[in-house]
Amino acid sequence: MSRRPSAQLAFTLLVGVLGWGVLIGWSLLAPAAEAAHHGPVTFLVFLAVILATRAMAFRIVPDSVLSLDTGFHVAAAAALDPLGAGQLVALALTLDSVVRLARSRHGGTAERFSYVLYFGGLTGALVAAVAWLIGPPGPLASEPEVTARVLAIGALLLLVHNAVQGARLALGGRSMGAFLRGQALPGIIAELALLPLAAVVVVLYHGERMLGFGLLAATYMLINLVFNRLSRASAALRARVRELEILDTTARGLAASLELQELVATVARETMRAIPAAETMALIHRGAERETDRFVVDCYDRHRDAFSRLRVGRTEGATGQVVARQEPLRIDDLTTSDVSAGPAGTDGVRSWLGVPVFMHGACEGVLVVQSREEAAFSLQDQRLLVSLALQVAAALENAHLYEMAMVDGLTGLFVRRYFDARIEEEIERSRRYGTPFAVVMMDIDDFKKLNDTHGHLAGDRVLRDIAAIVKQQMRGVDTAARYGGEELALILPRTELVSALNQAERIRAGIADHRVPAGDDGPVLSVTASFGIAAYPESGATTAEELVRRADRALYRAKKSGKNRVELFWADDTGSRPAVLAN
Ligand code: GH3
Ligand code: MG
Ligand code: MG
Repeated sequence: MSRRPSAQLAFTLLVGVLGWGVLIGWSLLAPAAEAAHHGPVTFLVFLAVILATRAMAFRIVPDSVLSLDTGFHVAAAAALDPLGAGQLVALALTLDSVVRLARSRHGGTAERFSYVLYFGGLTGALVAAVAWLIGPPGPLASEPEVTARVLAIGALLLLVHNAVQGARLALGGRSMGAFLRGQALPGIIAELALLPLAAVVVVLYHGERMLGFGLLAATYMLINLVFNRLSRASAALRARVRELEILDTTARGLAASLELQELVATVARETMRAIPAAETMALIHRGAERETDRFVVDCYDRHRDAFSRLRVGRTEGATGQVVARQEPLRIDDLTTSDVSAGPAGTDGVRSWLGVPVFMHGACEGVLVVQSREEAAFSLQDQRLLVSLALQVAAALENAHLYEMAMVDGLTGLFVRRYFDARIEEEIERSRRYGTPFAVVMMDIDDFKKLNDTHGHLAGDRVLRDIAAIVKQQMRGVDTAARYGGEELALILPRTELVSALNQAERIRAGIADHRVPAGDDGPVLSVTASFGIAAYPESGATTAEELVRRADRALYRAKKSGKNRVELFWADDTGSRPAVLAN
């Protein structure tokens, strides 16, 4: 890929130099009598009409400008002499491309320079050469002859010009099929359709019927203007359709993401798809806990295909500004802006675009895209990101509600309903991939007595501490739930019975070693818990219910044989425990 742009650049330069070489060489060698037998008025008249037509150029595909000016090039070749027409066209197109490139923000200096050289040189030399080859109609030529010559010059010019353009784009890696269908054919057809007008322009010009010439030239330009407006309207429509398509799939993707982690991944995926210029994305929000004084920053890096998360106390810089003003902010170049990127900023970022995420009328977050390119984001990107943020807000709200419904308020562990759904999923996964998993049921020992002696509040504190100890021992894929009052249940995916035993042992020891003050100056409490483990498919259970019951049976045995211990459910459950596992 890296060779392609340089091959294209070399070709562009070569053709440009060749074109200008032909024009300049020809001017030097041509006898003075042959050169410029036309007057400066003709030259200026045609220069004016060509420049006016170019000013109405339009795009049929995003990176290609089409202007229906070939008719005027041919008319100039017929009305002037081949060399004069070539010089005229080279001058007009050079002026036009200088203005066009000065206004565009794409491409490096070398590319721009070579294109200016190429565009004027190539077209000018082609007009001169083709007109010379076919021969312009003389001043006394009949109308049919003028028409035939104009059509022939026009057709040949279009063919060669498009062939060279195609070769140049192919060197840049563009597909020929796409060039032909999207650019060359529509362009050639539109220009060919206007060639008869060019013939009439020449006939009128030859006949010195300048009013007719002027009126027809104006009509010709009007047609360009109509094309220009139509293509703009169709481009706007296409952009809108694309936007709606993106929003539609995003809505579906987001609606299916109830869990925050999954939601962030969906937002990243959809944002990157909607805004291809984005290299990194950041969703700044209040997190599942909806902390009021802290924000969670979820970032996604397209190049590394990696997520990262950080927490920040305040939103500063550009992000802070979006939150404070509650409106989108687009920065074309951070290096020259007096605003910094804020907490979501990445090294080397130049373009920054952030929009507020509104919930219940308040700004609850910011959706940000960034790029190392300067001025990477357009107003259209901003509009799209605003629409995305509306959907993200609704999805975040759903995720928060889901989290609230699925997470137990006292312990911060999942509720039983969530556990039931997860265990079904895990059985399904285990069946499909043949990986085992384990379920651990645990129950606090003599908790009723602890409650009775020290009060419910102390009991609650103990319960919360135990949940924290459990969470510490969880891997990312594990699920811990509050199964009943003081019974907890764990799902340990991809875990054999022995590994589950080790994990449960660590939790058991952690709880036994833990000390909880009963009150401000009350006694220090210690507490223990008992565990029962059953594995799937090892336990022989075929349903979630059976599996839980088997883990429960092992737990019952742990209680019966002295508490503060871990018991396993064996498929041939004899009630005895292997000596190595005794504590
Ligand atoms: P065992 O060792 O056999 O488990 O004895 P136990 O006293 O712990 O018996 P059991 O498991 O049946 O205990 C249930 C008790 O747990 C009843 C209730 O007082 C207490 N409990 C359940 N949920 C809560 C809670 O949310 N907070 C508090 N403080 N206590 C709870
Ligand atoms: Mg109990
Ligand atoms: Mg108990």
